[in-house]
Amino acid sequence: MVVVMKQGTQQLEIDKLVAQFQLQGLQVGITHGVDCTILGLVGDTTAIDIDKISINEHIERVMRVSEPYKRANRKFHPEDTVVRIGSAAIGGGSFSVIAGPCSVESGEQIIEVAKDVQASGAAMLRGGAFKPRTSPYSFQGMGAPGLDLLLEAKAATGMPIVTELMSEKYCQLFEDKVDVIQIGARNMQNFDLLKEVGKLSKPILLKRGLSNSYEEWIMSAEYIMSEGNENVILCERGIRTFETYTRNTLDVSAIPAIKRMSHLPVIVDPSHSAGMYWMVEPLALAAVAAGADGLLIEVHNDPPHAKCDGQQSLTPEHFGRLMGRVSALVDLVGKTLVK
Ligand code: PEP
Ligand code: MN
Repeated sequence: MVVVMKQGTQQLEIDKLVAQFQLQGLQVGITHGVDCTILGLVGDTTAIDIDKISINEHIERVMRVSEPYKRANRKFHPEDTVVRIGSAAIGGGSFSVIAGPCSVESGEQIIEVAKDVQASGAAMLRGGAFKPRTSPYSFQGMGAPGLDLLLEAKAATGMPIVTELMSEKYCQLFEDKVDVIQIGARNMQNFDLLKEVGKLSKPILLKRGLSNSYEEWIMSAEYIMSEGNENVILCERGIRTFETYTRNTLDVSAIPAIKRMSHLPVIVDPSHSAGMYWMVEPLALAAVAAGADGLLIEVHNDPPHAKCDGQQSLTPEHFGRLMGRVSALVDLVGKTLVK
């Protein structure tokens, strides 16, 4: 349920109302918008009589929210959420690019790629240390030592680091070392993991599952937010369809749809969507044009010899050319490219 307060209502009156709802066993999220304050009520609101509470002179209107997602719902929070990571920002008109290799392979590799992508305008560095691979015989990532190499690249460039967490047992390690914690497509509905990262203070980059609906995806964000972590970035990374030419099918419709359903920022990963390096640029441009708040792009200094996802990785030169075009389009759609 959403309670919209009248413009200019005193904080004291808002506090009184919040206390009243809390006494009824409800959790209350408060959003102070430009025009008004909104109270988002979570819990069993069936006993609330809308006509009765509407008598309160400070209440503008009351609406029931039929969707199962509440905290992530745009009705609870009409303005875009802006997730801030150091000097970078995603959402609300700020556009950031996250770039780097699929996996961290060595100190030289990650530092070289970090410097290259930064020079081309990336705001954050990505690189997997713990890799979710389809085969147990494939390279599984460097593990915890990979996180330290990411920290070396951060020290060399100042770029915040984004990397995937697969297991609850590393939550504290990630909380201590990582700037943005990625939850991969395969773990989008690992509800225990979602609850644990909901208790952390770091922003969560939540990828869409391979075959998940918009509502299922937003419900996963709701799991994280219900534990207190409101800084969730949604990432469309392509879904399974009947088409086999591409690795996945980029669902461009997800961008406007999710932005209508939710206030959370939406970024796009054209690399895992396409699975082919030459398709990354057109898909990245389509994402910007459709309203994405950022991009996540795989870049490798030597794609033919990459330990993971070389076929879809851009060279630093190619990434530089892409950034020139992305930057022009970001301007055109009225957003600011954060570097
Ligand atoms: C990745 O970002 O390297 C990755 C494994 O992505 P996804 O979870 O989208 O497959
Ligand atoms: Mn990858």
